[in-house]
Amino acid sequence: MTLQVMKFGGTSVGSIEKIQRVGSRIQKKKAAGYDVIVVVSAMGKTTDHLVDLAAGITVRPSKREMDMLLATGEQQTMALLAMYLINEGIEAVSMMGWQAGMVTEASHGNARIADIKRESIQKQLNLGKVVIVAGFQGVTEDFEITTLGRGGSDTSAVALAAAFKAELCEIYTDVEGVYTTDPRYVSKARKLAELSYDEMLEMANLGAGVLHPRSVENAKKYKVPLVVRSSFNDEPGTIIKEETSMETGLAVSGLAFEKEVTKITLLGLPNKIETLSNVFKVLAGAGVNVDIIIQNALDKETTSISFTIASTHLADALDVLKTNQPILSYSDLNIESNLAKVSIIGSGMVSNPGVAADMFEVMSNIDVKIKMVSTSEIKVSTVIPTSDLNKALEALHEAFHLDSPLVEPELSSKA
Ligand code: ASP
Ligand code: MG
Repeated sequence: MTLQVMKFGGTSVGSIEKIQRVGSRIQKKKAAGYDVIVVVSAMGKTTDHLVDLAAGITVRPSKREMDMLLATGEQQTMALLAMYLINEGIEAVSMMGWQAGMVTEASHGNARIADIKRESIQKQLNLGKVVIVAGFQGVTEDFEITTLGRGGSDTSAVALAAAFKAELCEIYTDVEGVYTTDPRYVSKARKLAELSYDEMLEMANLGAGVLHPRSVENAKKYKVPLVVRSSFNDEPGTIIKEETSMETGLAVSGLAFEKEVTKITLLGLPNKIETLSNVFKVLAGAGVNVDIIIQNALDKETTSISFTIASTHLADALDVLKTNQPILSYSDLNIESNLAKVSIIGSGMVSNPGVAADMFEVMSNIDVKIKMVSTSEIKVSTVIPTSDLNKALEALHEAFHLDSPLVEPELSSKA
């Protein structure tokens, strides 16, 4: 029988009534003749509440015990949903990550899935049951419970879809799909009919919160077709797959942004081969993720390095840079906060030269000062003042024709 994976996020299962609605949707899928694996998140803001509870005990909870705590959130949802289905006469069984064979590497809080042992789920599928798996969690080879990082249920779902060769992995959420950009910022943001894995990967990594980036990575690797759609209606959502046919007339498919980044500049560094690696090793050692990097050799002896980090990492970055000042031997350290990163993304850029130039022109026309730039084949990112974020998004959305696609989906060639 054909198998599909259905994943329901926290808002989709945020109350008993919503769990019942999700149940009816599963019932329909089953009635249509599919084998179904369901992956659920914790109800509503449950995970946040659990994090708050832990914070009431200590600011540095044991990572192992944190995973023990957080894994309970998903357990509630799966049991309630299974009860509902059973009550409706649908055979269903819920499983914790460890029962479902979700084996992860041995690290707490952000573990990667290492393997899926399929036997236990397969056994239940063979009995005709809907299998409901707790998202966001797994177990190490040593039977320690782990979690996959916030938002990780998407990754559980895609990994299961890959392991069971599902025809489709549906991600049900509280929005209707993937938008050209965040509709809360740009009123004309439009739902995209489809996107390629690469485009979605850039969007997810660059701040579009709709999918856990690692889920897209896995979907691309194992060629799992994904659909992001609303759990509140029957609209078709956004399809994410390898090749896309629609909207090929557009160089840019979407805009992503991060509201709060900080630029750090180290001045008067020795202009030596090892300087770059020294600075970034120190930061990496402290778990600080560095984004855009610019090096500027001032003369033979000195160089300066600027880089951006998420503003939430500023305290950690300053700590480690100041401690290591004698080793790194920079003369000054400048900080510029209240910056935002705005990126344009689109596979169409590969065949459209001048997209970056167009972006810079748009920014200059509306008087927005670009502080830093970075590019890849299918994206251009710029760092600008956060106070200019809204107008930059509006202007870029319009300039790159994201308000209304040039090529109507009906007119495009079929995939
Ligand atoms: N419940 C977890 C979280 O809130 C995992 C997820 O929802 O994907 O991060
Ligand atoms: Mg999510």
